[in-house]
Amino acid sequence: MKAWHDECAVMGIWGDKEASHLTYLGLYAQQHRGQESAGIVTLNQGLHLAHKGMGLVGDVFSEDSLNHLKGQAGIGHVRYSTTGESFITNIQPLTARLLNGPLAIAHNGNIVNAHVLRRELIREGAIFQGTNDTECVLHLLAKDKNNDLVPCLKSVLPQLEGAFSMLVLAHDQLIAARDPYGFRPLVIGERTMEDGKTSYVVASESCAFDLIGAKLIREVEPGEIISITDQGITSDYFAKSQRLAKCVFEHVYFSRPDSFVFGESVYESRRRMGEVLAEESGVDADMVIPVPDSGVPASIGYSRKSGIPFELGIIRNHYIGRTFIQPTQSIRSFGVKIKLNPQAHLLKGKRVIVVDDSLVRGTTSQKIIRLVRQAGAKEVHFRLASPPTTGPCFYGVDTPKKAQLIASNMSLEEIRKFIDADSLAYLSIEGMLRAVKGEPKEYCAACFDGKYPTDLFGLEDMEVSK
Ligand code: AMP
Repeated sequence: MKAWHDECAVMGIWGDKEASHLTYLGLYAQQHRGQESAGIVTLNQGLHLAHKGMGLVGDVFSEDSLNHLKGQAGIGHVRYSTTGESFITNIQPLTARLLNGPLAIAHNGNIVNAHVLRRELIREGAIFQGTNDTECVLHLLAKDKNNDLVPCLKSVLPQLEGAFSMLVLAHDQLIAARDPYGFRPLVIGERTMEDGKTSYVVASESCAFDLIGAKLIREVEPGEIISITDQGITSDYFAKSQRLAKCVFEHVYFSRPDSFVFGESVYESRRRMGEVLAEESGVDADMVIPVPDSGVPASIGYSRKSGIPFELGIIRNHYIGRTFIQPTQSIRSFGVKIKLNPQAHLLKGKRVIVVDDSLVRGTTSQKIIRLVRQAGAKEVHFRLASPPTTGPCFYGVDTPKKAQLIASNMSLEEIRKFIDADSLAYLSIEGMLRAVKGEPKEYCAACFDGKYPTDLFGLEDMEVSK
């Protein structure tokens, strides 16, 4: 079971007659966090209506299905997971009918002790439908003796270890809760409707609010449970944070640059990462070019700090979808050019600094450098706006197993040779944490420094044998 590989986004709304359409738009804005499945559950006259499916948000929902999802409250979810666990039963939000009425859950992050909880629950007679860690939470809530949802969550959530930014939709309230480490983002906002009334929204990333004209109020705090009802918002805590572990990779790559994550602009963080990178590993060259789109903000920072001109040396085709028809073997050498086209008239005879956000397996960079050289670049200096990725993530980012991470197997010089760069440099861990602002000790950088902030309950061994 590879249940820790989920990448997801959540979206929730309370008190708006266009709940399903707004949830849809919120998911649409967060599509980058998961492309495999999508689902929305709304609350209509005390009952849940659901629509879920495999695929992109725009493909899963139609005008008809959104119109069918009546009600003034809803939660939604997009999910990516590696093949093998892409069952229909795993598509969130998960729903169940409990003693106190219907309950729907959508969750981002990975609960690292889910397999331990699941084993105990099955031994006690629970019947699971899928392989999803969120299903454990549903069973724990079903078993709990508390009548009201907030006290129930206060007794269930402390049993979970790991990362969870969670939405729960009940017959009378929308709950938003975040694990005490604060691994994954979760923000709350408000939206003024045409009649002047206010509705509340919750999302993984603030870019979802921009699209629907909602205003960001604040983050859901680590360890906090927020309950939204027709009477407004109430806040409670199920745990006091001993150690914060905000995922630094959200700022490096995962979040959209137009989002505010952990209170900071992702765009500004990335630009600063590029500035610090230029300070730490400057090199003389004619131009700085980004790997589009992930390397763009860092390249701007690198260019500003170094004074070397920024150019769009590689142009990306944005319309590559699943429908792309593979060319015949004879013309397959197109390769990465289908997506990325180097501008030979800019690059010819030039010393080029290529900036990207991260190096994972190394295969993309190898192809990009080959392209830039074929376009006539004289020198190619590769710069990464994050440190070497040396370990997998167990908290909700899909990193490959350790054996496939180039930096856990090769030295800097070996990687340089492998990708065929004239020089190669990564951002330091200190430099990255300086760039994201805030207290360095409040971040999780385990994929870079191997310091996992929680017990892993044997997942690390399952990872090795995977
Ligand atoms: P590669 O080194 O070939 O594995 O590709 C690295 C590139 O993939 C990076 O430059 C990122 O833009 C992107 N990337 C990094 N982490 C992830 C992830 N977890 N999921 C998808 N793409 C990623």
